Amino acid sequence: MTPKIARFLADNKLETPCLVVDLDVIAHNFKRLKKAMPLVHIYYAVKANPAAEILRVLDGLGSSFDTASIYEIEQCLALGIAPARLSFGSTIKKEGDIARAFKAGVGLFAFDSHAEVEKLARAAPGARVFCRIFMTGEGADWPLSRKFGCDVDMARDLLIKARDLGLDPHGVSFHVGSQQRDLTQWDVALGKTKMLFTALNEAGIELKLINLGGGFPAKYRQRIPSVDAYAEAIMSAMTKHFGNDLPQMIVEPGRGVAGDAGVIQAEVVLVSTKTYDDNRRWVYLDIGKFGGLPETMGEAIQYRLKTPRDGGPKGPVVLAGPTCDEVDVLYDNANYQLPLDLQVGDKIVIEAAGAYTTTYSSVGFNGFPPLKSYYI
Ligand SMILES: *Cc1c(COP(=O)(O)O)cnc(C)c1O
Repeated sequence: MTPKIARFLADNKLETPCLVVDLDVIAHNFKRLKKAMPLVHIYYAVKANPAAEILRVLDGLGSSFDTASIYEIEQCLALGIAPARLSFGSTIKKEGDIARAFKAGVGLFAFDSHAEVEKLARAAPGARVFCRIFMTGEGADWPLSRKFGCDVDMARDLLIKARDLGLDPHGVSFHVGSQQRDLTQWDVALGKTKMLFTALNEAGIELKLINLGGGFPAKYRQRIPSVDAYAEAIMSAMTKHFGNDLPQMIVEPGRGVAGDAGVIQAEVVLVSTKTYDDNRRWVYLDIGKFGGLPETMGEAIQYRLKTPRDGGPKGPVVLAGPTCDEVDVLYDNANYQLPLDLQVGDKIVIEAAGAYTTTYSSVGFNGFPPLKSYYI
């Protein structure tokens, strides 16, 4: 937690749960990535946290934006962000939404299938398009694998088809998986990308762009490499496969920009055991899977927790949310330990919760309102 957030929490008696984001950290994370990868154009992945305050800060720093729906596009446009700085990066779009985006001036679109190329050719004639190839998601805590992308052979055909249908086959994209902690995954992806560049060259198409995706981490429980280590791994894989003749490169960080910038303030609602000889307590918080923490599914994302009683003896806990649904358990197998003297009413801080929380919270399951958030 930054001193600014600590002061804000101390000065304001906020109703919990709530997210507090330090916009200075958003700016810092953006600048740090830009500095580490000066040749790479940054498209912030809006879906990670679409708060207007965050988009304005990044817009001011010269960021572009990767969007996943016509609604995100219209939100960016309403903030005065130029359509030329938007990419419609979802591979699953309604044709009417493509047409709306194209009319609004968006000129860069993703696809990974025959039907999607055909939609783009009809609804966004002449637009720059890129094909997403699939990755296994290996090494990532939150994989984005089977659902997105196609194999290299299909990608080749699709890019040729894009040209034949009058689109501008601009490049290749991939996403190595979110919270990717294995730095060699970009090398794997770029090996495939290079094969595609070569195959397309033989078909008379010169690709110009590589979209290196997201995958940059936030600081959860596990150790993560530094941003500089990511930059170094990616750029050395680029030169390994493309030599000195580097195509345009973009990255689409979401978690890596917004994750570390915010904390959730929550409260202990109940501490209990199920039998008299249980040695593991159940700790129920006022936030759970439906309140903004669905990335605890499969205990995939393991947030760091802070309590006012840290430092004393600790014991094992099952952590759960407040709703009347059996799946609303956050951590059962991940070996969480909390202070033995933890009390009902204690405040809990969930660190690095700035990404994939607010918009993931339900609109009112069990009557609980969506996660409140403050941008300071
Ligand atoms: C979700 C997503 C991102 C952002 O991923 P992070 O791992 O959060 O950086 C980037 N690009 C695309 C296409 C995505 O779907």
